[in-house]
Amino acid sequence: MTPVLSVRGLEKRFGAVVAADALNLDIAAGKKVSLIGANGAGKTTFVNLVTGYLEPDSGSIELDGQDIASRSPRSVARLGISRSFQIPQLFVELTAAENLSVAVSGARSRGLSFHSPAEADGRRQKTIELLERFGLDGLADRPIAELAGGIRKLIDIAMALVRRPKLLLLDEPTSGVSAEEKYAMMDRVIHAVAPDAATIVFVEHDMDIVSRYADRVVAFYQGRILADGLPSEVLKDVEVRRYVTGGAQ
Ligand code: ATP
Repeated sequence: MTPVLSVRGLEKRFGAVVAADALNLDIAAGKKVSLIGANGAGKTTFVNLVTGYLEPDSGSIELDGQDIASRSPRSVARLGISRSFQIPQLFVELTAAENLSVAVSGARSRGLSFHSPAEADGRRQKTIELLERFGLDGLADRPIAELAGGIRKLIDIAMALVRRPKLLLLDEPTSGVSAEEKYAMMDRVIHAVAPDAATIVFVEHDMDIVSRYADRVVAFYQGRILADGLPSEVLKDVEVRRYVTGGAQ
């Protein structure tokens, strides 16, 4: 079966720093894959390359067999890859529903256009349905500025689901979330994504979350893949313990 994502020989340098060093990676449909690595290992660079936020120096990126390297973020999103950010990209003065409504509107139109009342109703319905999936419908009319960091992250992820992506990339979904809340938060994410059967790739520093939610772990070190496999295997790997988890597992 064709992998959802297939990357070959992917390279990106920033001056002398090799942030992606001839990466080869296939991601199968429906899997939850965690990217781990110390600060500066190249995880976010990989996410930025796959989502069109960075242009590779060389190499190929295919989504369902279609070449997507060097396309714009908008074009990549239209083809089926969505992402969330380490710091949620939300309009803080707007409500949760208004933020999602902007995303729904952006996904449906190809530019400025007139929206009829029926379209506005449809947008509101889609917005509420997405908030319900995350258990956040009670917060629909609250401004983002009043909401806690974890809730903002969930709303950012809900926005990434608007286009029903084939591949969802989450950059540190639980960072800044308390130890008591982190499992509840990931449970909500997994539950919310399930109806679309999306493939999830998530960057994560918390090894409790990795071992609980990932089907597969890819460990990065200096722009290269150091280890790739089942969480139980990768987290025990001697090099991973030395360069990534610091012997924490
Ligand atoms: P973190 O866990 O801290 O987010 P990371 O694994 O996501 O780290 P990257 O952000 O991908 O690491 O960075 C990989 C390397 O590339 C680092 O050495 C970083 O300093 C460098 N780098 C990343 N983006 C840029 C940029 N825009 N300009 C210059 N160097 C960059």
